[in-house]
Amino acid sequence: MNTKAKAVCKLLNEKYIPITQKFLSCVTVFWFLFFVVTQLALPSERDVLDTQCRVYEGEWWHITREGEYVPVQVPGKVAAENGEPVSFSTILPEHIDAGECMCFYAVWQDVEIYIDGELRAVYNTENTRLFGINSPTRYVFVELEETDAGAELIYQITSTSKYAGAMRSCYIGDRMGIWVHLFGKAGLQSVIAIFLAFLSLFCIIICAVLKFAYRRPLPLSYLAWSIFFCACWMMTEIEFRQIMIKNVSALSLYAYWSLMIIPIPLCVYMNEIQHYRYHKLYMGPICYAAVILIIGTCLQVFDVVQFVSQVPYIHMGIIGALLCIMGTIVADTVKHRLSEYMIVGIGILGLLFTTVLEMLAYYMGIGMSLGTVLSMGLVFLLVMAIIKTGQDLFETEKKRQEAIMARNAQAKFLANMSHEIRTPINAIIGMNEMILRENADGAVQEYAVSIRNASKMLLGLVNDVLDFSKIESGQLELLEDTYDLGELLQDEMSLLRARAAEKPIITRLEAEPDIPSELWGDELRIKQILTNLLSNAVKYTKEGTVTLRVSYRRTDVDRLTLYFSVIDTGIGIKEENLSQVFDSFKRLELEKNRNVQGTGLGLNIAKQLVTLMQGSISVESEYGKGSRFSIAIPQKIMGHKPIGELKGMQMRAGKKKEKSQTLFTAPGAKVLAVDDSTMNLAVIKGLLKRTEMELDCAESGKEALELTRSKKYDIILMDHMMPELDGVETLHLLRADKKNENRNATVIALTANAVAGCKEMYAGYGFDDYFTKPILADKLEELLLLHLPGELVHRTGEKEEENSQEREKEREEMQDNNSVNDYKAEGENVPEELLVIDHELGLSYCMDSEELYEEILGEFEKQVKEYLPKLDACFEAQDLGQYAILTHALKGSTLNIGASAFSKLSLSHELAAKEENGGFVKEKYASYRAALVKLLEKVQA
Ligand code: ADP
Repeated sequence: MNTKAKAVCKLLNEKYIPITQKFLSCVTVFWFLFFVVTQLALPSERDVLDTQCRVYEGEWWHITREGEYVPVQVPGKVAAENGEPVSFSTILPEHIDAGECMCFYAVWQDVEIYIDGELRAVYNTENTRLFGINSPTRYVFVELEETDAGAELIYQITSTSKYAGAMRSCYIGDRMGIWVHLFGKAGLQSVIAIFLAFLSLFCIIICAVLKFAYRRPLPLSYLAWSIFFCACWMMTEIEFRQIMIKNVSALSLYAYWSLMIIPIPLCVYMNEIQHYRYHKLYMGPICYAAVILIIGTCLQVFDVVQFVSQVPYIHMGIIGALLCIMGTIVADTVKHRLSEYMIVGIGILGLLFTTVLEMLAYYMGIGMSLGTVLSMGLVFLLVMAIIKTGQDLFETEKKRQEAIMARNAQAKFLANMSHEIRTPINAIIGMNEMILRENADGAVQEYAVSIRNASKMLLGLVNDVLDFSKIESGQLELLEDTYDLGELLQDEMSLLRARAAEKPIITRLEAEPDIPSELWGDELRIKQILTNLLSNAVKYTKEGTVTLRVSYRRTDVDRLTLYFSVIDTGIGIKEENLSQVFDSFKRLELEKNRNVQGTGLGLNIAKQLVTLMQGSISVESEYGKGSRFSIAIPQKIMGHKPIGELKGMQMRAGKKKEKSQTLFTAPGAKVLAVDDSTMNLAVIKGLLKRTEMELDCAESGKEALELTRSKKYDIILMDHMMPELDGVETLHLLRADKKNENRNATVIALTANAVAGCKEMYAGYGFDDYFTKPILADKLEELLLLHLPGELVHRTGEKEEENSQEREKEREEMQDNNSVNDYKAEGENVPEELLVIDHELGLSYCMDSEELYEEILGEFEKQVKEYLPKLDACFEAQDLGQYAILTHALKGSTLNIGASAFSKLSLSHELAAKEENGGFVKEKYASYRAALVKLLEKVQA
């Protein structure tokens, strides 16, 4: 901003804004004053409404049963039987204007009005009401004519209520005038009633929203309901209801129902804010109101006792509730607990005061609208309750924020600590690997194995603590992807066997062979749960068996629930302890298990992870005999190929040799390792010594960048967490350095954060791959083998054989089907075997549903059409990575439709591409493509 603009801003702030504010204030004051003064001082120009209404003051006579005329006072009451017609007579004035009428207030009475013996008006709801035997209260009008002057008017009323024989005052005037008078009389009551209804509804809605936000109901909502019913009662009793509502008979029922309900939410509210101290006491008025509501309604519906005659009992309910409330407030005052809800207490006092005023006004006959004073008390109470709720919420929010801050600080501390602890553990594991690799002495090997086990356990513990703190602070999220269930089970079993090797324990896998293998879920976390249960099973079993049982239930076409059970014949859990096994930091029978290591966190984490996956976990156990932990996890099916018979695979994994051997040598390969921890660099150096690669080390990102400017590397291993320039920043600088010949080199991230989603994260940063610490020789070598240029690598015999065992086997399988690999056909010469689509096999992957199979064929057609140009493009560009992905997908989808021979052919292409065997792809692509086209034609036909 230049200086001129700054000066303008300053001027605005200092001068113009305050001046504008003052000007606006003056205008507003003038605005109101002008209105008030002119309206008071100037002469009237108003159109006067030419209406008339006055109380009829003529004399009245009661016509007795014997026909005698006895003078009566109106308003007044004469003795009458229930249902007996009672007549009152009056002589109309000597002068009646055209359009004049008389208006009578009929309280639960049927009315007939005669003038000079002629029936001129009738009010009776016998045919329009649902039930009841009286007509609801209403103003009844009778039109007068000029000729009616001096005539006799007989007003006849019939009622079966306490209002039999009761006559209220009546009005005379024009219709408009009478209504204007009645509106004026009931105006305040109706405005207050409507205001109360809106205010209480507003509170109810706000409470509902807050309940959603705070996951707990707010007591204020009960008070709001109580006041809402009160407002309903007032509204149903409004004087001019007969011109607003279609059926007043039905509406009049609401007045009684509202009165009956009021005490229930009111008592619940008080009970809540008094923390259920007087729970039993409040049950009295609540039950009474509920009983009155039900029984009273039945009595009214069956015309046994009318609502109007039940009023005293209804009032008793309200008075009882108010007495209970007062009693509890007095008790709380004595116990010094009133301070908990002092504000509401003041509100209740206000309500009581207005209730007394209302009653006095009612019984002393002061002409005040129904409930006007009482409703002011209600508004006062509601406002006080809103203030209390606001205070409570403020306090809750404050405490919540404090708790979140404390929890976050704790989680952060734990996360940092566990990261800090993992660094030296990783170094220990790495150094130990070197001892295992380089030292042939049996005793030293034994010590090193112990160090390896202990440090791995320590690492597991730290990871558990980190997971726990993440779950506790809600930071742990599932990272889902497609995974192979068969592979997962195999991994778990080899882990289990390794763990159980030192004990006389037989391990078993019992998996239903037809479970679909390609599923969608968080593989890493499922493994974590199973590993925990299986290692517990081994830990707490001296001898016998540990079984992993797997079954499933299909819940939808593409969904299933996986059931895992881990069954052991171990020490078991006492029945009284079963409910505590999933608690955090809870270890059972410490005396007995003091030699068994553990934190009591594993099962808690397992349970939280299962819950996160929308699944469930349970335990059954017989003390001394064994335990069974069962979990159910819903998963999505990505491919219908079954996992098959997995038992055979159990035998494949053998006991690993402790002494590591090199997987390959690559004397010409140049590798740069970047890590701020010299210990880690030493480990990498030591572990890779035998591969004969040329290894340079850099202790910082800056040093690494310098080295890359002077020498071309085949692979760069880059630590993520480094001071100053971290791994990601260094990588970005390297990639952006146009002159650097390592700009496009393969860079692999080294990380200690072994969490799901790492792969995506590091790929997102621009790394070619990632490697999790601790650095284990085998794994590091496998990774390097994957990324080193093929021509630099010399595989070492034995190890290579061991590692490529799986692939060899698969290749052998393919060779059995020799027509598959040997065909050299192009175009039309595609061997028939490749085009075989086994309908039965395809159906078996579709739950024998022809419809689903058709759908899958359709999907396959779409996929091939989409893939053909992509395959061509990969082939042209020699993009073997992408080629492997496409052929992998085709392997699955062709098997799904039942084309197993073609699926195997796709596998051979996938493997070749993964091994970067460009020659194989080059040689066989044309025939593979031709076969795919033919297969597509066959599907389309
Ligand atoms: P720990 O690290 O102590 O094993 P876990 O949370 O995994 O913690 O288990 C909690 C407790 O549950 C254990 O301390 C043990 O007493 C009991 N427990 C867990 N699995 C079994 C089992 N398979 N057999 C008997 N007891 C078990």
